[in-house]
Amino acid sequence: MATGKIGVTTENIFPVIKKFLYSDHEIFLRELVSNAVDATQKIRTLSSFGEFKGELGTLDVRVTVDKEAGTLTVSDRGVGMTAEDIDKYINQIAFSGAEEFLEKYKDTANSIIGHFGLGFYSAFMVAKKVVINSLSYKDGAESVRWECDGSPEYTMSAGDRTDRGTDIILYIDEESKEFLDQIRIDTLLKKYCRFLPVPVISGKEQEWKDGKYVDTDRDLVVNATEPLWTKKPADLTDEDYRNFYSELYPGQDDPLFWIHLNVDYPFTLTGILYFPKIKSNFDINKNRISLYCNQVFVTDSVEGVVPEFMTLMQGVIDSPDIPLNVSRSYLQSDTAVKKISGYITKKVASRLEELFKADRAEYEKKWDDIRLFIIYGMLTDEKFCEQAMKFLLLKDTEGKYYTLDEYKTLVEASQTDSDGNIIYLYTTDPVAQHSYIKAANDKGYNVLLLDGQLDNHFVGLLEQKLEKTRLVRVDSDVIDNLIRKSGRKEADLTPLQRNIMTTVFNSQLPVIDKTSFLVSFEALAPTDQPIVITQNEYMRRMKDLAALQPGMNFYGELPDSYMLVVNTEHPLVVKMRDEASSALDAEIKPLADTVEKDNAEITAIRDAAKDAKLSAEDEQKVKDLEKAVADSREKQETIVRKYASGQPLVKQLIDLALLGNGLLKGEALSEFIRRSVSLL
Ligand code: ADP
Repeated sequence: MATGKIGVTTENIFPVIKKFLYSDHEIFLRELVSNAVDATQKIRTLSSFGEFKGELGTLDVRVTVDKEAGTLTVSDRGVGMTAEDIDKYINQIAFSGAEEFLEKYKDTANSIIGHFGLGFYSAFMVAKKVVINSLSYKDGAESVRWECDGSPEYTMSAGDRTDRGTDIILYIDEESKEFLDQIRIDTLLKKYCRFLPVPVISGKEQEWKDGKYVDTDRDLVVNATEPLWTKKPADLTDEDYRNFYSELYPGQDDPLFWIHLNVDYPFTLTGILYFPKIKSNFDINKNRISLYCNQVFVTDSVEGVVPEFMTLMQGVIDSPDIPLNVSRSYLQSDTAVKKISGYITKKVASRLEELFKADRAEYEKKWDDIRLFIIYGMLTDEKFCEQAMKFLLLKDTEGKYYTLDEYKTLVEASQTDSDGNIIYLYTTDPVAQHSYIKAANDKGYNVLLLDGQLDNHFVGLLEQKLEKTRLVRVDSDVIDNLIRKSGRKEADLTPLQRNIMTTVFNSQLPVIDKTSFLVSFEALAPTDQPIVITQNEYMRRMKDLAALQPGMNFYGELPDSYMLVVNTEHPLVVKMRDEASSALDAEIKPLADTVEKDNAEITAIRDAAKDAKLSAEDEQKVKDLEKAVADSREKQETIVRKYASGQPLVKQLIDLALLGNGLLKGEALSEFIRRSVSLL
C-alpha cells in the first residue's frame, strides 16, 4: 500500500471546498455522473477507432444507494484508470493559487467545480471518505483502489474490480444524510442527468402491487440518451417537437412554434427554443430556457446568455462553448457569449421571417400571441428590431393585418397632413373610443389597434423608426385636427359670439375631481357630433408613462385635461349661437364695447409713457380703467351665466359628450337621465 499527499498548492483545500460550496452541495452528483459518462464515451470512441479491441458490453452508469452501509456509489463501464492515471488525474490537482481562486469566486459554486478539474473532489462536499475502485481497459491493467478521508492524504492499494470500469464510492457524512435517500437522488438525477448520452440507472422500476409500490426486476433508466435537440431537424416531425415540449413542460398548451438551433462554426451550439402561448400579461416566469453543456444540465438562469426578450421563451440550449463554470459577470462580458447571443437573435428573427413568408395566413393567426415577444424584442434589442421591421404586423380595428410597408401604402394618400406627415391613428380601447374611431372611419381613415401592454413604448419606437410619420390616438383631438389638411374652414363666430358661447359652455361644465376642461370651437362637418371631448396626445402619453415609472410624479399629479370641442357647423350649435345672439347681444354688446374702449385707453396710456414709469396720475387712471374692465366682464359673465342656466340643451349636449367618454358618473349621470326624460 502506498500513501501520498494530494498535490494541491494549499494544504487544506477540502475545508475550503466544503465551506464555499455549501449551498450547491448537490452538484457533486452531476460531476461524478458526468465523469462516468465521459469515461463511457471514451471507451466507445477508442473502440470505434480500433484502439480498444475487447467487448464493449452494456454501457451504462449506475447510481446505487446503500442506506445501511451509508454509501452512494457511481459505477461505470468506461475506460477505467490505472494507478498512473489516478496519480496523474486525481492526485495532482495542480493549479496555482487555489485558495485565492476560491476566494474570488466563492459566490458561484459552479465557477470552481469542473472548471479546474475539481469535479471529482466535489465528492468531499458530502462524503467523509471517498474510494475509487477501478480497472483500466488497457491490456494487462490491474485493479486499483484509492482511498481518501478528506485530508490531503490518500492511500493506494490493489482494487477488486474484475470488469473494466470505475466505482466511485462515497461514505456520506453525517450532515449529508439526505443523499442516502433514493427519492432525493432520483430527483437530482432527473434534474442534472435527464438528457445524458449514456443510460443512467438508479434502482428499479416500480409497480403497484397489493396496495403499494414495489420494485420490479427492471432497471430504472432516468435519462433519455438522445434528446431531440441532438437530432437532425430534417428527421423530425412537428409531432416530435410538440411531444418534446410537453415532456419538458408538462401540462402546458402546445407551443406556437419552435426554432431548432444547430451551429458548429464559429462555436458549437444546439438547442430548441419554443414560443409558448402566453395567456396573460407578464405574470410569466422568466428564465425558462435551460442551459446544457454536452447534455449535462447546468442552469436555468440564462440571463446574459440569451438576449433579454428571449427569456420569455422556453426550451434548451446546449453548448460546450459557453464557459459555464465561471461567474455570471464574467459570463455576461464574455465575447463568445455575446456572439452566441447575437447568433440566437439572428436565428430567431430569420425563423420568424421565414414563417411569415411561408404562410402568411398562419402567421397572422399566431400574431396576437407572438406580438408581445416581438415588440419586447424590438424595444430591447436594436439588431432584432432592425430585422423585425420586415415581419412586424400592424392590426387595424377591423382585424386586418398589414406589414409596415403595406400600411404605409394603405394610408399614405388619405392620411398625410398639410405638412407632409403621415398620421397613423390608433386606439387603445375600441369600445371606449368607439365614436372617435367611427368619426375617423367616416372620413375614410384607418385606425390601428394598439391595446397591448407595451404599446405605449411601441408607439414611440415606431415614430423613431418611420420617417415623417406620427402616431396619434384617435381621441386626442377632433379628427380634422389630428390630420390637418389645408383649406380648412374656420369656426363661424364673431368675436362677440365667441365670447358669449365660451361662457355659455364654460358655465355649464360639471366639476369633476382632478379633471379640467378647455372650451374650443371648430368648424367640423354638420353631420359630425355637436360636441367632442378630446385628450391631448402628448399629455396623455406623459401621464401613461408616469403611471409606469416611479420618479415621474410631476406628470402623474397633473389633472386630466380635456378639450371640449364645440362644432360650430352643427345645426344645434348654429341654433344655439343665433338664439344666444338675439337674446344677449343687445345687453352684452355695450358692455363688450366698453371693455374694448377701456382696454384701448390702457394701452394708449402705457404706449405714451413708453418704457418710462407712469406718473402717479396715469397710474391711478390705469387702475380705475382696469377695475372698470373687470367689472363689466363680471357683469357680462353674470348675464350670460344666467342665460345659460336656463338652456337645458347646453348641459344636455355637454353631458352627451361626457357620456361618450365615460366621464359622466354618479349624481351627474342621474341628473342627465332625469333631464333627458323631461326634454323628451
Ligand atoms: P474533469 O472531469 O473536469 O477533468 P475531474 O476532477 O472530475 O475533472 O476528473 C479528473 C480526471 O479524472 C478526469 O479528467 C478523468 O481523466 C479522471 N476520471 C474521473 N472520473 C473518472 C471515471 N469515472 N472513469 C475514468 N476516469 C475518470
